[in-house]
Amino acid sequence: METVTHYTAYKARPFTREQRKDVTILYGGLTWKHERLVQGVFHNLNYNAEPLPNVARADLDAGKELIDVGACCPTIFTTGNLVSFLKSEVAIRGKEEVANKYVFLTAGACGPCRFGQYHESYAMALDGLGLRDFRLFLLAQNQLDQGPSNGGGLEINLPLSLGLVWAILCADVLTDLEYMTRPYEVSPGQTDQILQESIEYLYEVFRNRPIKGKKWGVFAWHFLSDYFTDALREVRKQWDAIEVDRLQAKPKVKVTGEFWLQTHEGDGNYNIKRWLEQEGAEVIPPPIAVWLDYLLHSPIMKLEERKEFEKKAALKMTIVRALEYVYHRTYNRFRKALGSLPYELPDQEELRRLATPFYHYQLRGGEGHMLVAKALYAYHHKKAHMICELSPYSCMPNTMSVGSMANVLGQYPDMLYAPIEVKGDAEIHALSRCQMILTEAKKRAQRDFEEVMEKTGLTTEAIREYEARHPEVTRGTYRVPHYGYAGTTANYVLHLAKRIKN
Ligand code: SF4
Repeated sequence: METVTHYTAYKARPFTREQRKDVTILYGGLTWKHERLVQGVFHNLNYNAEPLPNVARADLDAGKELIDVGACCPTIFTTGNLVSFLKSEVAIRGKEEVANKYVFLTAGACGPCRFGQYHESYAMALDGLGLRDFRLFLLAQNQLDQGPSNGGGLEINLPLSLGLVWAILCADVLTDLEYMTRPYEVSPGQTDQILQESIEYLYEVFRNRPIKGKKWGVFAWHFLSDYFTDALREVRKQWDAIEVDRLQAKPKVKVTGEFWLQTHEGDGNYNIKRWLEQEGAEVIPPPIAVWLDYLLHSPIMKLEERKEFEKKAALKMTIVRALEYVYHRTYNRFRKALGSLPYELPDQEELRRLATPFYHYQLRGGEGHMLVAKALYAYHHKKAHMICELSPYSCMPNTMSVGSMANVLGQYPDMLYAPIEVKGDAEIHALSRCQMILTEAKKRAQRDFEEVMEKTGLTTEAIREYEARHPEVTRGTYRVPHYGYAGTTANYVLHLAKRIKN
């Protein structure tokens, strides 16, 4: 008789507290800045931790070989990334040592997109590699305190979770600063150099974070302490050294899209943010903070609909609103420490309102209604000349958003919108598509500039003369208010005109 081998779901071997000193926690999926600060949080709590190498083109092939063919592009890339790392380690140390030396920590969730199944893809890849003994752990994104589990080697508690969130927020505000400075820097490479130094400095800040109190005490300390804002003020002083020339009319491009693709900086999205800068654009990067805000706000949207049936709905909503308040307050404190240069978080209620005629907010999965909402938010508030939306190949939620955008464009035909499908191996096609829309965005940026020059009666010579007498306006950390133009240069000219007049 033939023996049937039944399918058994992957279950990680225990990772015990005693093993902690000999085991390295692997993680990935964010930018190098976020990952370095996250490393500071792990080191602070006496874990060995290492980010995976940044995703490379070869990871796409490594992933395709081992997981199901219909997987979306981010799943293939991130699984391939782990596979490539494990393969290279196995070649040096052998399977047994690799399975004992490393564990992998990944975020998890449930929902209609593949994000809820990433770990299944990882498990499938481990089977393919003959590494079923390798340990994967899930950090549920809606549970900050999961306590010690599966041996207690990894304790997902408040000091870890809050440290990770704070690290992400700090990396976000610094990323905003990076992208608004680099396109205008006078000395090429200076922004990257200072960014690198700032991240190393902040790594030490997170590594030396004092852990004050338990549960509520840890919460209170993170919300009230000046520890991180003082550090960011120090960072701002370093950025004061960067001289910029804002008199270059550049199109502002808001990058949106699927969570991983929009956040990533590398081969996984054709390095599109750097490419846009090389093409003469200023990029507005997508902060992870907006996604966390969306997760925080979602229960309110649900409770509002169910308030007649849900027990203590009003109380629950009040608690979530209070959490939202402290979250926004924290982010704004970080922004303020950097001279209020990083962009403010959009109001989640406004995003919902904007998206509602086109995409229902209860259609969860991926970025939900936020793709449509962010495009409309940038359009109505004149935050950007153009939207570049990064849509992964084989992503159901994104396909729905792109479909809805056809309706949005029908109503706002002057919106410049470039949906870029990212498969990982069709770079020329994707970039040339983006370039077509970018050409129009460049014309608009130039038009805005000419319009404000005419309106103010200023000349380039007069501006240069004023800059020479007031060098503070040429610092990367000098804040130019938003006067209703999308482009930095147009707002800068209007601002100087007001200064000159006063
Ligand atoms: S949103 Fe799309 S691309 Fe992202 S994990 Fe879900 S299915 Fe994949």
